[in-house]
Amino acid sequence: MTTMNHGKVTLVGAGPGDPELLTLKALKAIQRATVLLVDDLVSDEIVAFARPEARIVYVGKRGGCKSTPQAFIEKLMLMAAREGEDVVRLKGGDPFIFGRGGEEVEHLRAAGIEVEIVNGITAGLAAVTSLGVPLTHRQHAHGVVFVTGHAKPGDSGTDWKALAATAHSARLTLVIYMGVSGAERIQDELLAGLPAATPVAVVQNASLATQRHITTTLGELASAIREAGLASPSVIVVGDVVGGVALAAAHPEAVRAA
Ligand code: SAH
Repeated sequence: MTTMNHGKVTLVGAGPGDPELLTLKALKAIQRATVLLVDDLVSDEIVAFARPEARIVYVGKRGGCKSTPQAFIEKLMLMAAREGEDVVRLKGGDPFIFGRGGEEVEHLRAAGIEVEIVNGITAGLAAVTSLGVPLTHRQHAHGVVFVTGHAKPGDSGTDWKALAATAHSARLTLVIYMGVSGAERIQDELLAGLPAATPVAVVQNASLATQRHITTTLGELASAIREAGLASPSVIVVGDVVGGVALAAAHPEAVRAA
């Protein structure tokens, strides 16, 4: 006997790119899906886990000229779920860290559709881990803030000065998503509350074969990004925990010995 699907969507976190960083739950959902709506930052190797007969809809920039409008994506999910399809919405990293997963869930639930969420490894976490840097450390950071460098149009955005002061006094690591194009402004405003010598790492394409990174200081952030030619998708990590990477690069033998 087959069970009828009365409209269900699974929001699946595809992780930062490396297929080996998928959860087993994510893999099973992808293999089971009959319809997949795939975001830009999801790697082809992950989409390749889908059944050959599954319908794959690219809703990121590579699917059309610009990004598919959010309302259209939500409508598409709703229609497919109501037709009884096993719908997977595949999003980069974790579905609930930026990327509008929260809005999609609200919309689907309001329409009476059951929604399941499968976590993914968020890019900020993968980026620092790939450098061997911890986000928290008893000596250097008591916590971590995931923050976007790109506000919704019309929104005043992040209060970087207040955030810098808090990060300094409470000893927090800042992990900035979507911050590369606004790096100059972010740098200027963070300098109101954090020392220019604060260590910073920028990691592009974390976990992929194309990964690149730089380590610099807050005072040099924008110029270092320009010189290295780093672009989106990148995360910027600000805080003393990053100091260890610069040290590892300067004295690799010391790190190997330790
Ligand atoms: N939900 C995603 C974030 C979506 S917002 C997550 O949890 O990772 C998109 C931003 O995420 C990018 O602009 C970039 O800042 C970051 N990002 C996504 N994938 C990345 C990767 N492989 N390497 C570095 N940054 C990445």
